[in-house]
Amino acid sequence: MAKNNECGVSDSVICKWLGKECKDCFINELNSDDAEKMLNDFKVTISLLPKNFDTLLGDECGFCKGEHKFKRHTYAIVDIAHSEPESKKGMFFGMGKRVRQKIGSLLPVSISICKRCRGQFKKLDIIKWAALLAFTGVSVGVCLIPAVNVNPVLPYAIVLAGGIAGYIAGKILSSWYMNKKSEETCFNVFDIPVLAKMRDIGWFTVQDDGPVTHFLFSRKPLMKKLSDICDESKKAGD
Ligand SMILES: [Zn+2]
Repeated sequence: MAKNNECGVSDSVICKWLGKECKDCFINELNSDDAEKMLNDFKVTISLLPKNFDTLLGDECGFCKGEHKFKRHTYAIVDIAHSEPESKKGMFFGMGKRVRQKIGSLLPVSISICKRCRGQFKKLDIIKWAALLAFTGVSVGVCLIPAVNVNPVLPYAIVLAGGIAGYIAGKILSSWYMNKKSEETCFNVFDIPVLAKMRDIGWFTVQDDGPVTHFLFSRKPLMKKLSDICDESKKAGD
């Protein structure tokens, strides 16, 4: 029996992906054409995911390198995007031209991460902040020297220079630490083999693409397994 006979996308992949009560679901507010378009667009998004996509949510850490993978402690989450399905914004500068938007699919990809790998990301943050605080603290200390203090501008310049030096030192130290640990842990999301495959077919991160990806960490994943939404029989087989 359908979950909701009044909803055109009830029990579809997007319905299962959202996993909401009908009263809380934004599709309720869409007209049937928009809801159907959303479902078709979502099917395109799903088709852009590799077969082993579900391993990202597995019991083992997706960030561990080498043979031994530690058990999942929590989930690392980052938004990734793809230009498909084609989405267009109307009336660009009133010229009547429809402009293709860069982002067609957006996915809060959630990846199992172990305690050790989570700790490496934490340490990178601590190193950056510690360097910034240490350099700023020393520069404030220098300003307390009476000879410096008499000049009205000098203390500000010293604190500013201390802050900049701390920021740079933090970057250098954290990249040194990252290099030291890069044999144990993937620091960039696209170093993870499943995601590397996804990058090859056009997925990219929305915010940044530096050597260390900025993740949010959560006890719960923000996405579902494909086997949970696409085919019930697959679930029984796995
Ligand atoms: Zn790990």
